[in-house]
Amino acid sequence: MDEVLSKLIALHDLDQLLKELESPEYQELGFEVKETRKKELLKRREELVRQIPEQVYRRYERLRKRYGRGIAPVVGGVCMNCFIQLPTAVVSGPDKNQRLETCSNCGIFIYLA
Ligand SMILES: [Zn+2]
Repeated sequence: MDEVLSKLIALHDLDQLLKELESPEYQELGFEVKETRKKELLKRREELVRQIPEQVYRRYERLRKRYGRGIAPVVGGVCMNCFIQLPTAVVSGPDKNQRLETCSNCGIFIYLA
C-alpha cells in the first residue's frame, strides 16, 4: 500500500477516536482520564502529520471541514462519501491502493476497502 495513503488512514482513525472522546458515551470516563487520553492521541496525531506531505495534509483538512472526514473507503466501486459509482479504471487496476487517489466526484481521498 502507498505509504502516504496508509498514514492518511491512520490519521482518519485517530480523528475518529478524538471525535468519539467528545461523545456522550465517554462522559462517564471523567474529565482527567479523558484529557490524558486526548493528549496522547493529539501527540500521536502530531507525529503522524509530520510524516505526511504538507500539500496532502492541507487537502485532508479542507475535506474534513467540508465532509467531516478526509478519506473514505470505496466499497463495490462506490465512494462511501458521495455514493457515486467510480470508473472501473480507478477501482480495479493492478495498482490498487498503490497510489493516492481521489474521488472524481467529491474529491475526497479514497482507498479500496
Ligand atoms: Zn466521492
